[in-house]
Amino acid sequence: MRVVYLDNNATTRVADEVREEMLPYLSDLYGNPSSMHTFGGQVHRKIETAREQVAALINAEPEEIIFTSCGTESDNTAIMSGLESNPQKRHVITTRVEHPAVLNFCKTISRRGYRVTFLPVDKLGRMNPEELQTAITDDTAVVSIMYANNESGVIFPISKIAEIVKSKGVLFHTDAVQAAGKIPVDVKRLPVDMMSISGHKMHAAKGVGALYLKRGTRFSPYIIGGHQERGRRAGTENVASIAGLGKACELAKEHLPIENTKVKELRDRLEHGLLKTCPEARTNGEIENRLPNTVNISFQYVEGEAILLRLNEFNICASSGSACTSGSLEPSHVLRAMGVPFTAIHGSVRFSLSRYTTDEDIDLVLKKMPGIIKELRELSPYGREVKELKQ
Ligand code: PLP
Repeated sequence: MRVVYLDNNATTRVADEVREEMLPYLSDLYGNPSSMHTFGGQVHRKIETAREQVAALINAEPEEIIFTSCGTESDNTAIMSGLESNPQKRHVITTRVEHPAVLNFCKTISRRGYRVTFLPVDKLGRMNPEELQTAITDDTAVVSIMYANNESGVIFPISKIAEIVKSKGVLFHTDAVQAAGKIPVDVKRLPVDMMSISGHKMHAAKGVGALYLKRGTRFSPYIIGGHQERGRRAGTENVASIAGLGKACELAKEHLPIENTKVKELRDRLEHGLLKTCPEARTNGEIENRLPNTVNISFQYVEGEAILLRLNEFNICASSGSACTSGSLEPSHVLRAMGVPFTAIHGSVRFSLSRYTTDEDIDLVLKKMPGIIKELRELSPYGREVKELKQ
């Protein structure tokens, strides 16, 4: 059965063109890019081409790109570098809705003696730049605020945020893992010092990412060893994946207009259709300032996990706002920070599309969902209670 893949914020399929770009570096072209010989030299050149392609996607200079192993490494590196290059400062600012790559890193450093401010968001998942302004002190070393949220899709006013941070002379990092390739990102127009991206969110392989480091920014490497990446990130390069990331960025740049037209139209059709046909459904997060591929909907009084299992029977892949870990249902920290009611968090489902999503994919979800919701609501004790209350 064909897979209807609507979980692209979790990971994406590797584009055929990307795979083609990677294959030679997994077979014949196995030289070490640091070697003196020509055989290694051609591999080194491929890395530099990929660096140019990644830079072009975000309008950076190639030397401002450092290849890493993933978005998580880029995030950890940026924050740690911010602290280590300002050793007299002990304060970090972030938000309550960051990905665990930032959130849990910040919780860890707070246990190691740093002070961390976790800024709130409102019920539409928006943050208030004024609260950031007042949170910055003389002790603030680095501010790390995401470009767009992976669960709600809400896009933060990064330009305004960056201006505030820079006006106070503080380092600014943004996690653009979900934004890059989906919306235009231009580091020449945004005063950001560091920005994280990840390959597997934009049709490259898993296990490769990049950190943009603005020229002239003080930097302290996280992974220490050889002189790779001009001493900024040691370790023999993951050449095939880097070559693929370069190609993926080139393709993403080319396809950017599709995100805001075809992908957005399909997302909107899915959202409007579900809200119309499924009673007690509501969208989580701001409608306007949202990634064009993402919609997060709460189907109140049913379990998101149960919805996913039923969708799975039709090979439809999506995500829920509660992760079932070791038998306990842990509700999404993002939806909790937004103050979404308990019964709505548990019934939340995130659909995230890509340029490979088709009309037929959306038709199938729209056909199956009303029945699934009706059936689960009849089984749910909450659903029955609400029905009785309404009678
Ligand atoms: N930041 C955001 C916003 C993400 O959505 C993710 C992955 O889901 C990451 C960071 C982590 O990226 P990676 O899986 O490449 O480590």
